[in-house]
Amino acid sequence: MSDCLVIGGGIIGMMTARSLSLAGAKVTLLDQQQCALESSWAGGGIISPLYPWRYDKLINELSSASQAVYGQLCAQIFEDTGLDPEYLKSGLLMMDEFGTPKASAWLKTHHLNYENHPRGALFTQIAQVRNPRLLKALKVDIINKGVVIIEQTKAEQLLIKAGQVIGVKTNQQDYLADHIVVCSGAWSSQWLKLKDEILPIKGQMIVLKAEPSAVSHIVLDQGRYIIPRKDGRLLVGSSMQNVGFDRSTDQQTRQSLQDFAVSRFSQLAKAKVEHHWSGFRPASRSGKVMLGRFGKFENVYLNTGHFRNGLNMAPESAKRITQLIIHQ
Ligand SMILES: Cc1cc2nc3c(=O)[nH]c(=O)nc-3n(C[C@H](O)[C@H](O)[C@H](O)COP(=O)(O)OP(=O)(O)OC[C@H]3O[C@@H](n4cnc5c(N)ncnc54)[C@H](O)[C@@H]3O)c2cc1C
Repeated sequence: MSDCLVIGGGIIGMMTARSLSLAGAKVTLLDQQQCALESSWAGGGIISPLYPWRYDKLINELSSASQAVYGQLCAQIFEDTGLDPEYLKSGLLMMDEFGTPKASAWLKTHHLNYENHPRGALFTQIAQVRNPRLLKALKVDIINKGVVIIEQTKAEQLLIKAGQVIGVKTNQQDYLADHIVVCSGAWSSQWLKLKDEILPIKGQMIVLKAEPSAVSHIVLDQGRYIIPRKDGRLLVGSSMQNVGFDRSTDQQTRQSLQDFAVSRFSQLAKAKVEHHWSGFRPASRSGKVMLGRFGKFENVYLNTGHFRNGLNMAPESAKRITQLIIHQ
């Protein structure tokens, strides 16, 4: 019998598996395909909510606690695996909204300062991570720590005996466990009946090949952003589309993302679009993160619904679920 069964191998599932394993649990992680190919791969890797004042208390708590440990966590994973997640405090230049009464009040209460910049407000403490690299490193790290990863295995339903959950039925075989943590992102409502349904909200992104230093900070304006990677590549995102599990990308969105980048930095007019992709953000209908016990079951936990902020909130979400399981 495995102590803990984690369903889903995105950032949330792998961080949860790491945290449980460090706390001494025997952990098995299942993924319906390969780990790290979905939203956590597709995302931008900004380690902050875009406009924090738009979010509830829990989201801000999870974000700020995660932000406080992210740099050290990435350094540790780099040291343990030799794979660099490219954590970078590039700062975030916000061009809009920072001066509204709601934003000003929030910034004051949260003691968050910015530097004045000719084009807006520069939040120097905001960082980014190169999420596909973080995921690659994290996978190696958890395997080294003893987590058993089983891919191409889809959780189909909870196994219940005499009113108790004893494991999970999959398309391969049954897995028994003392505790089950659901980290199946946008697919969570496909195999579990959740009161607060999880919807897949598609986001499209592009990456531009530019000269390093063309853009030096993350730039945010009108809900869209540009993220400068260390090698000069610029991620530009993103759309928000409630269209089910339709992965297609379209020319119109690609063009509007490119236009956004060029309108803010005219020198990007000749930068080539290297790649264009989409991912499914796990969004609950209520807008809330689902972190805690699932319904009446004492040993089933939800760690999902992170919507636009899962990369950012993963470390603290994993820590809280671990504390709940270990200390009951
Ligand atoms: C375009 C875009 C930009 C984004 N930018 C940012 C950003 O800058 N910062 C930020 O913090 N967040 C960002 N996000 C959001 C972030 O990516 C998500 O919140 C986060 O990745 C969710 O992580 P997850 O592990 O829950 O989901 P996923 O990464 O989608 O992982 C879920 C995993 O569960 C597996 N699974 C599903 N169902 C089953 C099943 N039944 N059995 C077994 N396995 C199953 C899937 O195969 C998948 O591997 C962005 C998202 C998008 C799409």
